[in-house]
Amino acid sequence: MLKLYNTLTHKKEPFEPRESGKVRMYVCGITAYDECHLGHARAAVVFDVVYRYLKFLKYDVTYIRNFTDVDDKIIKKSADTGQSCEAITAKYIQSYQEQMTRLRVLAPTEEPRATQHIKEMVGLIERLIANGLAYASGSDVFFEVRKFRGYGKLSHKKIDDLESGARVEIDEKKKDPLDFALWKGAKPGEPEWDSPWGKGRPGWHIECSAMSMKYLGERFDIHGGGRDLMFPHHENEMAQSEGVTGKAPFAKYWLHNGFVNINAEKMSKSIGNIRSMPAILAQWDPEIVRYFLLSNHYASPLDFTDESMTNAREALRRFYETLNRFYQTPDGAETPALPLAETEKVFQTSLDDDFNTAALVGGLFDQIRILNKFLDEGRRPTAAAKKELVAGLQRISAVVAIFDADPAEFLQKQKDQGIQKLALSEKQINDFITERKQARLAKNWQRSDEIRDTLASHNVVLKDNPDGTTGWEIKIA
Ligand SMILES: [Zn+2]
Repeated sequence: MLKLYNTLTHKKEPFEPRESGKVRMYVCGITAYDECHLGHARAAVVFDVVYRYLKFLKYDVTYIRNFTDVDDKIIKKSADTGQSCEAITAKYIQSYQEQMTRLRVLAPTEEPRATQHIKEMVGLIERLIANGLAYASGSDVFFEVRKFRGYGKLSHKKIDDLESGARVEIDEKKKDPLDFALWKGAKPGEPEWDSPWGKGRPGWHIECSAMSMKYLGERFDIHGGGRDLMFPHHENEMAQSEGVTGKAPFAKYWLHNGFVNINAEKMSKSIGNIRSMPAILAQWDPEIVRYFLLSNHYASPLDFTDESMTNAREALRRFYETLNRFYQTPDGAETPALPLAETEKVFQTSLDDDFNTAALVGGLFDQIRILNKFLDEGRRPTAAAKKELVAGLQRISAVVAIFDADPAEFLQKQKDQGIQKLALSEKQINDFITERKQARLAKNWQRSDEIRDTLASHNVVLKDNPDGTTGWEIKIA
């Protein structure tokens, strides 16, 4: 039974969609004015696993993730660079989709864009005015926060605490500093559309109410996004949507993924520590990045450092090394009992528990340790046991989209990338290993140790296997 932590109720709850067998899910996408970064990638990968797992559970899932393509930041970039807003958003939407494809994030059912839904937004604003929850002021329209009962119920904030907060800006056009813009009157040089209040453009929050309700209906099952969007964006979105329909809750379950920190600092433009995905994927294999993003529970903060990425790479390499050994061991008569049965049990219990990919990864590595021990004892698996493990891993990979590379290929690729940083070629390393083997046969222990030390000084670590062969790996901190 799938349970998930609902921000709205502050509880872990059994998942029961509004309509049996069907799931409707909306996740806030990017504002397309710059390259996407690790925080965007985390949200996309987290909700990709949610999407894939719901499909694995045989739900018919409609998944909507939007693009914000009209916004202050896009307009500013256009003014700064002389490029049109359309050219800017087209460029970064395309780049986002390329990075997500590399990270094996499935395309949602629809990826609607804000500028293609202005009519729907105007319609919602008219209904909010008719319901007495919004007012025009000059050519702007504002949502009147104090008129909506229940404002603050998602982020668990009290209106009066918000009011006394020092960060609320005073705007003469607003009745109350807490009110937020639904429609902004046109300014010279900015994109504009016709509306009953004159030419202008929508405020940010109304687009998600318009696009979610258009594709999913007035009420749906799951609303997701990064924790940074919980307030004010999601709070406002919920107030708008429920304010229009008079029906609550707008979304039944609200899921929020945690922040990504960089070297223990919050990632932010002002600190200048943003890591763009094109830069990260130029340095690290996409499977390592995806593994890193899923090795913590989605709601926990995640700290990106060179060390944490190196650890992720080493973990995956250990995983594939064991698999490689397992598959290449000649067929025998034994079935390593635990791994085959346990792996899938761990998989489903972990993901049923609020999509706990961290527990899944931990459980899988427990099985890898057991497999290693089995092989270290010189035991040989049956051909059927090998096939069963491959099939089990494929079922898991259909949901997490990691752990399904060809082990030999993965190891070779990592080795090749490591070799580029080494002073030795692969041939030189293999020649040293051959020479060391001959030295050992001749009981020339001194030469054998010299070779081991020489290679170690070049970050190449030798590993003597129980079957008499010698493997090597690159250890670069
Ligand atoms: Zn949104």
